[in-house]
Formats: sequence, C-alpha cells, structure tokens
Amino acid sequence: MNEYIIRFHLMSNLHIGSGFSFMGLVDKTTIKNEKNMVVIPGSTIKGKLRSACKKICRSLESEFGHVCDGKDSPGICKKPLDEVCIICRLFGSSYTEGKLLFREATLSLNEQKRAEMLLELYPFASVQSELRSGNRISRSLRTSYPKQLFVSESCPGELTLEGKICSKEALTETEKRLLSWGAKSILQIGGQKGRGLGRVSIAIEGI
Ligand SMILES: [Zn+2]
Repeated sequence: MNEYIIRFHLMSNLHIGSGFSFMGLVDKTTIKNEKNMVVIPGSTIKGKLRSACKKICRSLESEFGHVCDGKDSPGICKKPLDEVCIICRLFGSSYTEGKLLFREATLSLNEQKRAEMLLELYPFASVQSELRSGNRISRSLRTSYPKQLFVSESCPGELTLEGKICSKEALTETEKRLLSWGAKSILQIGGQKGRGLGRVSIAIEGI
C-alpha cells in the first residue's frame, strides 16, 4: 500500500456542516471526530479531488484520455479496471472499485500540540473552533429575513490539516500528475463559500 500525505493550509475559516446543532447555542456545527477535533472527512476530500481532476481531464483529453460522465450516465465505464477511464480507475464508480482510499484530514501534529497546551492554560479556550453569527439573506429582495439569525461554528484559518491518500497499487506518472494538478486547482472547500469561508491551498506530498 502506497501512502501520500495531503495537506490543507486554511487561508480563511473552514465550515463543513455536520448537520447538527449544539445545545440550542450553535445552529450549524462543523464536523469533528470522536476526539472532538475538527476534521475534513475522507468523502469530502475524495469528492472535491474527483471533480477537480475530472475538470482537468475534460480540458486536456489528449493527455489524460476521454473520461466518462460517471454516476448513472449511459456512458459510464463498465469495463475491467485496466480499461476504464482515469477517473473511474482512481476514484472508482458503482461498477469498479478505485485504486485510492481517502482518510480524513485532522489538525497537523504541531497544531494538535498547540491546542492541548492552550487547553491546559485556559480550559475553555479553543484553537480549532470559532463561533460567528449570521443572518439569512434574501438575494431577490436584497434584505435579511426576520428572525433568521444563526450561529455557526468554523475552524479558524491559518491552521493546517493533514490527511492520507492510500493507493492499493503503484500510481503511474500520469495518475500522479493528474492528482497533483487536481489538488493545486482546488481553491475552496466546505460550506458558506459566499461568506468567504473555506479558502484553501492543497498539496499532496511525495507525489
Ligand atoms: Zn469512467
């Protein structure tokens, strides 16, 4: 199994909606793992990278070959693994299992140590979560909705999160190139893009 580190450097706060509220105080919490640490789920990383790589393939068909439309499209690859398009080969589809596995990204070790130190000094402090209030806006009426104030939680910018991409088989140079370009082309991740959240710079190490 080949492993690569994928590093997310946050340039603004990050919010990946958990779909849960917290004790009636926070309406939109961001996803955390069982250790209560902010994470970017493997499925989010996979989805984002897949669509970024697909866009690149579409504009550089001579380099990466034709790619199918995926999901339930009539043209989806149903062939054996070696003959499917590069996107199905790497990320899988309902017919084939892809080469890659994505592990969630958590705060880098340095950030985790900083979070623990800060918690010792100030038991209620947190370096990994920030609260801000917002108001639901009607774009057509250009006004805010009444009684729609909400509080959302996000992970502060300037932090670094690290995840893992594992490959069952060695990657070809073309596959590595596509993944690296795909990662670099992603500029935003998570929700509340319109509020400027989730600006990110991504790099895959050793690829
Ligand atoms: Zn395909």
